Amino acid sequence: MEKRKNNKGTICVQEGWKPKKGEPRVLPIYQSTTFKYDTSEQMGDLFDLKASGYFYTRLQNPTNDYVADKIRALEGGVAAMLTSSGQAASFYSIFNICSAGDHFVSASTIYGGTFNLFAVTMKKLGIEVTFVDQDAPEEEIGKAFRPNTKALFAESISNPGMNVLDIEKFAKIAHGHGVPLIVDNTFPTPINCNPIEWGADIVMHSTTKYMDGHATAVGGAIVDSGNFDWDKYADKFPGLTEPDESYHGLTYTKAFGKGAFITKATAQLMRDLGSIQSPQNAFLLNIGLETLHLRMARHCSNALKVAEFLESRPEVAWVHYPGLKSNKYYDLTQKYMPNGTCGVMTFGLKGGRDKSVKFMDSLDMVAIVTHVADARTCVLHPASHTHRQLTDEQLVAAGVAPDLIRLSVGIEDPEDIIADIAQALEKAVK
Ligand SMILES: *Cc1c(COP(=O)(O)O)cnc(C)c1O
Repeated sequence: MEKRKNNKGTICVQEGWKPKKGEPRVLPIYQSTTFKYDTSEQMGDLFDLKASGYFYTRLQNPTNDYVADKIRALEGGVAAMLTSSGQAASFYSIFNICSAGDHFVSASTIYGGTFNLFAVTMKKLGIEVTFVDQDAPEEEIGKAFRPNTKALFAESISNPGMNVLDIEKFAKIAHGHGVPLIVDNTFPTPINCNPIEWGADIVMHSTTKYMDGHATAVGGAIVDSGNFDWDKYADKFPGLTEPDESYHGLTYTKAFGKGAFITKATAQLMRDLGSIQSPQNAFLLNIGLETLHLRMARHCSNALKVAEFLESRPEVAWVHYPGLKSNKYYDLTQKYMPNGTCGVMTFGLKGGRDKSVKFMDSLDMVAIVTHVADARTCVLHPASHTHRQLTDEQLVAAGVAPDLIRLSVGIEDPEDIIADIAQALEKAVK
């Protein structure tokens, strides 16, 4: 009989570290750079990837692996790894299958840091990106694909555009062109959305946001569904399907099957680029994950109340929260994340940019910080903060209006959040 699968809340609390008799109840921090062996041959086998085991924390550390395994279980994947940041996770998920001369397609409304990574830094490495409007019809998005295209990338809910991705449509486009769909699932988290269920092949996260949830540790994660058949398109993905000279001619898909993608990203990219998450941060992340299911429900119910309040106010020009019935993504939301989206929304005030800035300066409890998705309610003005390196054209392409305020609703009592917003609105329009 197959073992009964736990629900997500139980996975949040119980998955990953499962102590045996006499072992610590709580996941220990393996604060050690290195690991001991008895014979030279044992160590040699690790270096050849013939045996699995720990030898150096730049490649793998037990604390990190237990936490990665919890995230893997939440997303319904076959393998997962932690990275030092969400940026590292985005970079690795693309760079693991693209090299100089390759091309990939990405939704244009993505996190500003990811946009810059793709448009500027990846370009310097010889990897080209084409940005597409994720709401465009399939045929139009399909036109961006070339013979050297290796991946399609998008965010399940875009930051800060708050556009909800039609994941099935994107999976169909990607698979029709023989490439994997990579989804950044940071905002809804696996509590509210599992992109793998809808055809995504690779899911990545900035764990800095809701997963940590307390704004204590920067981190990232990559999860592989194990569903993409690299060998079917062997000529497109030689890094996975042909011998790796830096591992004595080992071929990842042959040696590791469904674990090929994560093993390559660990054995090659972590080895060479070293963006490991510190075990201390992984420990903090794990504590955050234990309450993710509770916090997400509260973030969502608070955010809906705040969004409805904003929508009712005469000072407010527009509110964009996919959980609102009036929102253009409401139907997609009902399909892909029926239990809730996240705590983040955007809105603008009548009177434009100046009023938006005055509103933010008038807030008392709600703070201006470069962050989203933690327990404390906060605001940011992307045009003057996170996205200030983008041109006006790029701002529009990224779905960021100049008056756009990004509000990340925390888990305080909703009456107090609304009261602070109400008094700041009054001050802003005076
Ligand atoms: C913050 C964020 C990132 C980048 O993550 P860091 O942990 O800050 O490096 C990537 N994607 C999304 C959707 C984000 O919100």
